This record gives sequence, C-alpha cells and structure tokens, in this order.
Amino acid sequence: MSIDLLSLLMPRYCVVCNQVVWGDHERFFCLSCYSSMPFSRGGRLEEYLGKRMDISRAFSLLEYTKGSGYAEVFKEIKYRDNAELALFMGRLMGYKLLSLGWPRGLTFVPIPMTRWKKLRRGYNQAELLAKGVAQVMGGKLELNLLTKSSNTVSQTLMGRWERWLNSKGIYMVKEGADLEQKLVLVDDIVTTGATIDSCRMMLQRHYDVKVWVVSLGFTP
Ligand SMILES: [Zn+2]
Repeated sequence: MSIDLLSLLMPRYCVVCNQVVWGDHERFFCLSCYSSMPFSRGGRLEEYLGKRMDISRAFSLLEYTKGSGYAEVFKEIKYRDNAELALFMGRLMGYKLLSLGWPRGLTFVPIPMTRWKKLRRGYNQAELLAKGVAQVMGGKLELNLLTKSSNTVSQTLMGRWERWLNSKGIYMVKEGADLEQKLVLVDDIVTTGATIDSCRMMLQRHYDVKVWVVSLGFTP
C-alpha cells in the first residue's frame, strides 16, 4: 500500500497545530511547525543551573513557553503515551548536542520516576529521551543508577529546602557501579532545577563524578 493511501486511511496530525501531516518526512510535525520550532540558542539553561549548583554544562533543546503550541509536545509525551515522539525528540537533542561540540560516548542517566508512576504511564519519558540521545551520540545508558521512591521520611529535622526536596520524593543511588567521570542527567522539562539538584547531590554523595544536564525543555 502506498504511503499516501495509508495516510488517507490513518491520518496523522501535527502535534503542534493539529493539521493532517503527510508522508514520512512529516511524522509528528507539519513542515511549517517543524521549521519554526523554538530551538534554544544554547547557554540559558547552563547559565541558570551553573549559578545555583555544581553543574558545569547544561543544554535544553527547546525554550518552551506555556501559551505556545509547542507546549503540546510535552503534553503529548507526558500524558498521551506518545513514546515514539519522545524517542524522536531525544534523537533531535543528540544531533543538536553533537553540533554544539558535546563529545560522543557520554553516560546518560535519566531522571527516574517512581515505579508506580512508571507502571501507570507505561514508560518514563526521560528514559526514552535519554535513549534517543544515546542512539545518536553513541553513549551509554545507566537506567538503574538512580531510582525514585515515593516514601517520604520524617521531615522534622530538615531545613526548609530539604523538606521541599523531600516532598518531591526521594532519589536513591545504586552503590558500586563502574562509572565514567562524567554523567549526563536527562530530563524532559527543567523548571526550578530542584529535581536536577537533588539527583546531582545524591550522585556526588556516592561517586566522584561531574554532572552535566540535558533537557528537552526549559521554563525558567
Ligand atoms: Zn503544524
């Protein structure tokens, strides 16, 4: 069956503007939305995180604003089970990082979600993004190094910041892994950076590593 006939029978829609898209070259986006994708020019996430925590390199593919149609990309990945789109965006992140001179062969660590949440959703979107990035950059994936538990421990002896981090869930690190010197945390959206910071702290508490960050979007 020809591709065009297939598209007639099972039309696909642009994630951003919802118009029908055609053929293989327009898989998730129409050409118009793809060509006006709000790719970040780099630097902003690195500057933001670098000022607040011990992170030397960071990059976000998109600069996402809440009102924009491109917010649909995140909703699609997070709430509408679009695992294919997550992998695709991960690969885009990989190509962009290579063009910015990031080295090949890095180790990628997706921000984990609780087991319950992953069961409910069927996948962890950060893991799929990391897979896409690693496919393109030839890197290694560490999928079990970080885990997230929803059990919150007693907060009485904690400061305000720790208490707030604790309320977001607890990240745990697997001991005794044979790691490279640099780890790249992968997340879908960075907002305050608190999640990134708690994962970074946990990793550096157990391993002598530098932590870099890549995310699909950044909404400061
Ligand atoms: Zn479109």
